[in-house]
Amino acid sequence: MILDAKIPDGPISEKWDNHRFSSKLVNPANKRKYKIIVVGSGLAGGAAAATLGELGYNVDCFCYQDTPRRAHSIAAQGGINAAKNYQNDGDSIHRLFYDTVKGGDFRSREANVHRLAQVSVNIIDQCVAQGVPFAREYGGLLANRSFGGAQVSRTFYARGQTGQQLLLGAYSALSRQIATGQVKMHTRCEMLDLVTVQGHAKGIITRNLANGDIKAWTADAVLLCTGGYGNAYYLSTNAVGCNVTAAFRAYRHGAGFANPCYTQIHPTCIPVSGDHQSKLTLMSESLRNDGRVWVPTNADDCSLNPNDIPEDDRDYYLERKYPSFGNLAPRDISSRSAKEACDDGRGVGSGGRGVYLDFSDAISRLGESTIRERYGNLFQMYERITGENAYQRPMRIYPAIHYTMGGLWVDYNLMTTIPGCFALGEANFSDHGANRLGASALMQGLSDGYFVIPYTIGDYLANAGAGSVSPDGPEVKVALDNVKQRLDALLSIDGKRTSRSYHKHLGQIMWEYAGMARNEKGLKKAIGEIQDLREDFHKNLQVPGSGESLNIELERAGRVRDFLQFGELLCRDALDRNESCGGHFREEYQTDDGEATRDDENFAHAAVWEFNGDEETPQRHVEDLQFDNVKLAVRSYK
Ligand SMILES: Cc1cc2nc3c(=O)[nH]c(=O)nc-3n(C[C@H](O)[C@H](O)[C@H](O)COP(=O)(O)OP(=O)(O)OC[C@H]3O[C@@H](n4cnc5c(N)ncnc54)[C@H](O)[C@@H]3O)c2cc1C
Repeated sequence: MILDAKIPDGPISEKWDNHRFSSKLVNPANKRKYKIIVVGSGLAGGAAAATLGELGYNVDCFCYQDTPRRAHSIAAQGGINAAKNYQNDGDSIHRLFYDTVKGGDFRSREANVHRLAQVSVNIIDQCVAQGVPFAREYGGLLANRSFGGAQVSRTFYARGQTGQQLLLGAYSALSRQIATGQVKMHTRCEMLDLVTVQGHAKGIITRNLANGDIKAWTADAVLLCTGGYGNAYYLSTNAVGCNVTAAFRAYRHGAGFANPCYTQIHPTCIPVSGDHQSKLTLMSESLRNDGRVWVPTNADDCSLNPNDIPEDDRDYYLERKYPSFGNLAPRDISSRSAKEACDDGRGVGSGGRGVYLDFSDAISRLGESTIRERYGNLFQMYERITGENAYQRPMRIYPAIHYTMGGLWVDYNLMTTIPGCFALGEANFSDHGANRLGASALMQGLSDGYFVIPYTIGDYLANAGAGSVSPDGPEVKVALDNVKQRLDALLSIDGKRTSRSYHKHLGQIMWEYAGMARNEKGLKKAIGEIQDLREDFHKNLQVPGSGESLNIELERAGRVRDFLQFGELLCRDALDRNESCGGHFREEYQTDDGEATRDDENFAHAAVWEFNGDEETPQRHVEDLQFDNVKLAVRSYK
């Protein structure tokens, strides 16, 4: 596998402009000769499909929900970053670039991150023009708040519904293209395989989830905008349908999978309340602008009403340990600190797996109405789930799986190692290194979709020339047959155990051994247990019904089958990365006071996995990362 990142020459601030100028263009009249498949219609896919349609390409766009408006992006709450510097508090493109590289624990590609910071300012303009109702200051300018890992306020927001409003903006743009016929939208259609012809991505195979139809679609290029794989852990803040299938199928066809072990655990989620849950709920990081995190200093006080615990008996541990960033320490660091406090016996709530997020100071300083205005819907959501009123009593929160920094390896053009197959948004590995800063995922998805792919795909198409293959071609037929066989295999096992039960079991293994803290012994154990579970799955799975109609069990079984293979890859990656960085915390590599210890000499690289067949161990390749503009340093938020 050749990993050529295709980073343009020149100073970092000029790379993107130079690249755009030197990229080939497809002239307007020729664009209609090209067909592009976009899988996914969340922020990344919706933005890409709308923009490519507007440019004049013929686009087929797919999602498994019944409307693009239900993509998981809609769940995003807190905000989207941009280096507008409206606050005059010291922000700049370079500072956003610097914060992101440092926040990612020096494991991302500088050139991509700089482009992201540059493009961030255009995103806000475009979204405002679409009518996205961002919060405003009294003078009319857009308002900002702070997010973790930054000492400036650069996060734009629409109450606690930023993802929803941004998605409605992208959806409006997409709807216009659907109405003109430039984009054909295929809802309830799940991609089950990629079609490659002579090594190039030329199409996909889908199953219509409503009637079971299996169909092939061909095009000149395929864009995978299919989101992250956090649900490998079963319980996460992701929508229940989020899965790894599209990316994993591309991996099996030769797309390198980068850094699968980089998973983000978000510190502010509603704690697990029992065995019955199928998902967890995020309380946005924005709450840490005004909420203070603490646990009782004495373990004996954990069962008391928090309002009865005197100030002197509270440990505001983030403020104590990280005075410069305090409650806005980045996610990986805040999550580990919460775990540490709970491991110390000072956790609160059922099972002692919770810490307090307390708004009483902010309420006495600003008044309840201001807090209600800023976060009202989040407080309401919290009350619905826990039955507690967080205006009167601190919220209880605990870390949960939330986001995945790993994903399909892409070069500077967002192309995977399969020519013609691109990956955008959370599905790629590109910009966040080992830890994503809050409010940067929406920025990346929209950057990829609105501003990067329209240029880079033009260069690919202009070089490759028009020529999508026929849906009746031999390679397409083989791919179709393979998908049918795989579905039949799932339906014919006729065992006793549901795919949900396998998924839950996998999640327990992953959380136990590849969660907030990992070690060699545990990861080896996890790999063995996942292999056993997978073997059992293929002998004992039960999928009721048939493939010829709506069958939710069949859908789930297919996704769980891929998670069962992918989970092993994630653990392998975690095992081979003998260092701690960002969200990947190996217990063997830490300082005396529990901070992550990186090994820049041996691991300043992206690890990229190549599929070698079901019977072989995948091969690990590396893309060395160079830091010419940000000095490699120990990441400190103290
Ligand atoms: C609760 C929550 C809150 C968040 N809040 C923020 C925030 O405030 N700020 C921030 O920056 N980030 C936030 N994030 C992260 C952010 O929401 C996501 O990273 C981002 O929305 C992902 O967008 P995407 O377009 O890449 O993928 P998604 O929105 O997940 O879209 C994936 C699309 O792919 C389709 N798809 C997937 N697989 C297939 C298949 N096999 N066949 C066909 N279609 C398929 C789906 O139907 C969907 O349309 C949050 C995440 C969560 C979980």
